[in-house]
Amino acid sequence: MKLLVIEDEGELAGLLHRGMVGEGHTVTLAPDGRSGLSLARHGNFDFILLDLNLPDIQGFEITETLRSEDVQTPIIMITARDDVNDRIAGLRKGADDYLIKPFAFEELLARMDAVLRRSRPASPRATAELAEYLSYGGVTLDYATKKVTIHDEQVRLTVKELEVLRILLANPSRIHSRHEILRLVWGLEEDPLTNIVEVYISRLRRKLIGSGIECIDNVRGFGYRFDVVG
Ligand code: CA
Repeated sequence: MKLLVIEDEGELAGLLHRGMVGEGHTVTLAPDGRSGLSLARHGNFDFILLDLNLPDIQGFEITETLRSEDVQTPIIMITARDDVNDRIAGLRKGADDYLIKPFAFEELLARMDAVLRRSRPASPRATAELAEYLSYGGVTLDYATKKVTIHDEQVRLTVKELEVLRILLANPSRIHSRHEILRLVWGLEEDPLTNIVEVYISRLRRKLIGSGIECIDNVRGFGYRFDVVG
C-alpha cells in the first residue's frame, strides 16, 4: 500500500517508516500539518496515519478538511493519552480509528486491517450490483455473456475465476481483502482456513499473464488489486 505518515516527532516517524517499509508498503513522511494536508489531497494514498498534535494544523482539522473535500482515504489517528477531546473531534470529523501512544506496532497493523475490512462492501449481494460490462487496462469482462477478452483476444475462465476478476475489475486500484473476496465469491462469512482465494488468484493471474497482461497485484498482508503492470 501507499501510506502517508503525518507525524512531527522524528523518532516515531522513523519507527513507523521502517516498520511499514518492512511490511512491504511505500511510505511518505510529512513532518507538519500543512505538507501532510497537501500530500493527502493529491498523493493518491491508500492509508493515512495522522498524528493529532502537530505544530501548525491540528490533526482533527486535517481530517475535517479532507472529508469535506471528499477525500475518503482511511485515517488512523495517533494520539497522546490526554488528547481525548481532539480524539473525539477527529472521529466525529471522519477519522476511522485511533491509537494512543505508545502503542505496539502489531496493534497498528491489526487496526489498519480492521479499518480496511470495514470499508469494504459487506453483502454477498454486492456482486449482483456490479456493472455487467467492465473494461480497464485492456481487459474487458462482459458478465452477461461471461466473456473476458484481453486486447480483443478471448480468455477462457472458470465461473469462479470470472467472479474474482469481476470484483477486482469493478474497482481497479482498490485493495480487496482475502476476506472480502471469500464473502463475495463464495458467500462465506467465516474464514474456513483454506487458501482457496490464493489458489484462484494465482490461477487467474497465470491465465492473464498467459494472455500477455500482468494485472493482479498482491498487497502483502492486505489483499489484492487490479493494477496493470505492463
Ligand atoms: Ca506530535
